[in-house]
Order: sequence, then C-alpha cells, then structure tokens
Amino acid sequence: MKMSKMFMPTLREVPADAEITSHQLMMRAGMIRKMASGVYNQLPMGIRVFKKIENIVREELEKKGCQEILCSGLIPSELWKESGRWDVMGAEMMRVKDRNDRDFCLGPTHEEVFTDLIRQEITSYKQLPLNLYQIQVKYRDERRPRFGVMRTRTFTMKDAYSFDIDEAGLDKSYQDMYDAYTNIFARCGLDNSPVQADTGAIGGSVSAEFMVKSEVGEDEIVFCSGCDYAANMEKAVSVNTSLDKEEMKELTEIHTPNVHTIEDLEKFFNLPANRFAKTLVYEVDGKTVVVVVRGDREVNETKVANAIGGAVEFELAREEVVRAVTKAGIGFAGPIGVEADYVFIDNEVAEQNNLVIGANKDEYHIQNANYGRDFEGTVGDFRNVTEGDKCTKCGSELEIARGVEVGHIFKLGTKYSETMGANYIDKDGKSKPIVMGCYGIGIERTAAAIIEQHHDENGIIWPLSIAPYHVVVVPVNIKKAEQMEAAEKIYNELQSMGVEVLLDDRDERVGVKFKDSELVGIPMRITVGKDITDGKVEFKLRDAQDKELISLDEIKSKIE
Ligand code: ATP
Ligand code: MG
Ligand code: MG
Ligand code: MG
Repeated sequence: MKMSKMFMPTLREVPADAEITSHQLMMRAGMIRKMASGVYNQLPMGIRVFKKIENIVREELEKKGCQEILCSGLIPSELWKESGRWDVMGAEMMRVKDRNDRDFCLGPTHEEVFTDLIRQEITSYKQLPLNLYQIQVKYRDERRPRFGVMRTRTFTMKDAYSFDIDEAGLDKSYQDMYDAYTNIFARCGLDNSPVQADTGAIGGSVSAEFMVKSEVGEDEIVFCSGCDYAANMEKAVSVNTSLDKEEMKELTEIHTPNVHTIEDLEKFFNLPANRFAKTLVYEVDGKTVVVVVRGDREVNETKVANAIGGAVEFELAREEVVRAVTKAGIGFAGPIGVEADYVFIDNEVAEQNNLVIGANKDEYHIQNANYGRDFEGTVGDFRNVTEGDKCTKCGSELEIARGVEVGHIFKLGTKYSETMGANYIDKDGKSKPIVMGCYGIGIERTAAAIIEQHHDENGIIWPLSIAPYHVVVVPVNIKKAEQMEAAEKIYNELQSMGVEVLLDDRDERVGVKFKDSELVGIPMRITVGKDITDGKVEFKLRDAQDKELISLDEIKSKIE
C-alpha cells in the first residue's frame, strides 16, 4: 500500500476522552474513530489488526475441528423467552420491534440461537460431537462503555458452542478450547493466564477466563504464589482471612441509602415486591436478615439460612455475611445484568450504619457495595480474598492483580438443551439432552490488550503476527529520483515475496514519516536515503534502538 493513498488519519495530540494507553494509541494511530458513546468505526489500520486476530482464532479453532458459521445478529424474542433470558438480560440487551410490533433483540450472545439451530438438525448421537463458531458483531448496552474498544456497545466476538452426548464429551471439548485459547493468546503475543471464573448470566458449572494482567483491567484476579491456583476475585476462595475490622467499619459508614423495609427495597430496586422471585426473612439471634432474590434464580433456602445464621452468630459484619453466602454456594454476584441479587439487610446494623449490601444488578448497586467494577473509584472494596490470605490448595500466600478478560469459556451442561428441548437419540434408543459448552473471545478487546502490553512512549509495538503491515519503506526525500526509484523497487520486490509492505511516498519530512511508522507500530523499517548511491539502506526494528546500514541484497534475509 502506498501511504499517499491511504486513509490513515494519525493524530499528534492525545484525544481528551482517551484515558488509557490502548485507547489513546488506537485513536492516534488512526485505527478507530468514535461515533457515539461505546460505538466506534474501524479504519484501515484497525481493520487489518482485527482481521489478523480473527484469522489466528480461525486457524487455532479449525485445528480443533471447529466449523465456522454465521448466525443472524437480529434475534426474535421467542427464543429468549424459551430459555427464560428475555427478562434476565435486563437493560444490557438492545431490544427492537419490527413493523408488526414483534420483539427482537440485537444479539448480545448466541446460546439460544445455536441451541435452536442444533435442535432442528441433530437427531442422533451419530451426528455428535460438533463445535460450531462464528465471528460476529455483538450488541450490549453497557452501562459504562469506556476505554475505547475495551468496553463498547457493539464489538466483534468469536463465539463457539460445543455439542456433545455426555459430560465426558464436554470435558474433551472444553479442554480442546482451553488449549486453543492458550495458543491463540500466545500467538497474539499476550502474556495471559486462565483463571477460574464465575458463570454469571450464561450459567453452567465450570468456567475459565483468560486474563491479561494489566493495571487498566476491570477485573481483579487472585493468584497463588506457590501453586497454579488462579481465580477471578468473584470466584476466589482463601483460608485464614484476616479482615481488618476497623477498615470495614469505615467502609460500612460510607454506605447509603436507608433501606430497612420491603417498601424501601421496592423503591431501591424500582420494582414491586411481587417481582422479587423470593423474599426470605430470617430472625437470627434477634436480628433480622432479609434476603431478596430477584428474577428466576432458584434458591436453596436451607443453605441461605445456614449461611446467614452462621455469619450472624459469629457477629460478623457484612463482608462476612456475603462471604458466607458465597461459600455456601448460593452465589452472590455475577456480571452486570445478572438476576442474582441477594440483598442482605441486618436491620440492627442497617439502622446504625445505613447499610445495604449485595444488590447485583446494573444501576441497583450502592456505591462500593459490590466489586467496584461498575463504579467510579477503586475496584474491589468488597473482596472474597484479601491480600495476605492463604491458598486453600497449598497454603502459600495469595496475590491480587488486575486483569483484562479477553476470553471466557464455559461448561454449560444441559441448561439450554433442557429448557429449549435440544435432544438426541442415544445408542440405547433413549432421548437425551445435548451437553453443551460455550466459548467467547473479544476481538477488539484483545487488540487493545496487546497494545497495553506492547508499546513505548512513541507508540504501538505490534508483534509481527498482529501487525497491520510488516515493513514500511521510507524514502527520505521523494523528490530525489534515485531514492524514490530504489524505494519503489524494494517495495515491489517485498510485495511479490508476499510481505505486507507500506511505501511512505508522502511528501512529508522524514521525521514525520518516522513518527507515524513508530506510532502505528510497523515492526520493520527500511529507510532509503543518500546512502542509496552506495547501494545501502537503513534497516531498523521497531522494538530496537540500533539502526543498521545494509546492502540491498541483504534486505531479503533480514525480513524472512
Ligand atoms: P465483562 O466482564 O468485561 O463485561 P463479559 O464477561 O460480560 O465481559 P462474555 O459474555 O464472557 O463477556 O463475552 C466474551 C468476551 O467478549 C469477553 O471475554 C470479552 O473479551 C468480550 N467482551 C464482552 N463484553 C465486551 C464489551 N462490552 N466490549 C468489548 N468486548 C467485550
Ligand atoms: Mg466478565
Ligand atoms: Mg459484561
Ligand atoms: Mg465473561
């Protein structure tokens, strides 16, 4: 590509609303432009990078026998009503009506669509296992779109769904995807780690998130210093938790509002009490604890009662109540939009401290009552694990870091196949529900995470595998015929070798050209200047300081 013809609007200034490095650099490198909050257009430099990631994803998935399809992004509400998620998805789901007033949504994820497709086509165990995937635009009306393409309202996701006859089959499919993800992120140049994760709105039993450690990450991750234990804070467990009671007291005193009665709760949730799936009221040691479960979550009352009973008995404060409930396996919090809102109110404590905790729903949080991921300010005011806690596996100290979730894999089991009737006939002639898994990767977020890990003060440093172009050929002065001719010759030769190459034939000062090539992160630069009269050009790697004068016939060996 000749840069004089290219649509590559680079910026010298950092855009005012770009808070994190990857957002700043994607804007400055002319990869993306904002259209509305959380809505971006992708320009040539951006598209090329995103496609590189998509192709790595394709290659690694196809190696595991996955097959690409493409489903509609526009989805009729009936499918979501069947699975029970039309209501569960809440405000994050973008809903539209057709001309006949029928409800549709713009797909935020595709479990229902794939399950529907499969139930119509699969009848026998002989047709299984299957793993189908798509690379498609998803729509989520995020409450707080931010950090450029890290959290947008439309983004490209690779989502895959596996269909097996039994748990053993699912175990293998899941492991295959786990391995594929490990390879994908390694090929993207990402230093990443899989961590145990909460299953949230998607459901299922086992799940792992692929996390890129980064200061700008919106998740908190817990790592063991002694063994391979790693988990999202939402899921993490530890022993010897030493809560700092003073610190906790301070925390509780910040909290608002006054919620002491069911009427207060209704106001707080902006939802009539008859829409609470369940309101459980306990008297424990003379204290009242109210547990509200919103939506369609099933709840094991004995477990709740025991958890709360235990917590109150030991006079533990709110963090402990939540922790006890979490440990009892009732679950406490999931991703935004999940209908699993346990509200614990201890009236006595509430009176004293204006305390309500645990509302786990977009816009229903009280500041700092949850993990902080939905709020201004710090992450993790509520934590399952605190610094210094010990690992339950090996007893070593646990460490806490921030991470960007780039991928997420789930064992779904039969959650969708049972509710939607996706069955197959087994060898024994019996009809059984298909056992499913689902697997997502955010394409643009992965690109942003790569930039977070690969940049310097001058711009992006793309790993070769992801770079929009491999080489840029820069004639120092395009008015000097011998420089321009040599540059074009090098450019043409590289192109015929299949190298992705740019020719910076713009009538700009060489300093401007260098700045741009460093900003957009092209891994190799060949500068054609006055030394061309001796048949020499300058060769420089983006991630190295030194430049080398090389002869024309050395170029090929440098680049291969
Ligand atoms: P998050 O916790 O960041 O909200 P999620 O858990 O809701 O993400 P999943 O439903 O697991 O996301 O989707 C799979 C992948 O899609 C994520 O791992 C992430 O890479 C990407 N993704 C999810 N939401 C967004 C978004 N709003 N913008 C960009 N990428 C996203
Ligand atoms: Mg998540
Ligand atoms: Mg989310
Ligand atoms: Mg996730």
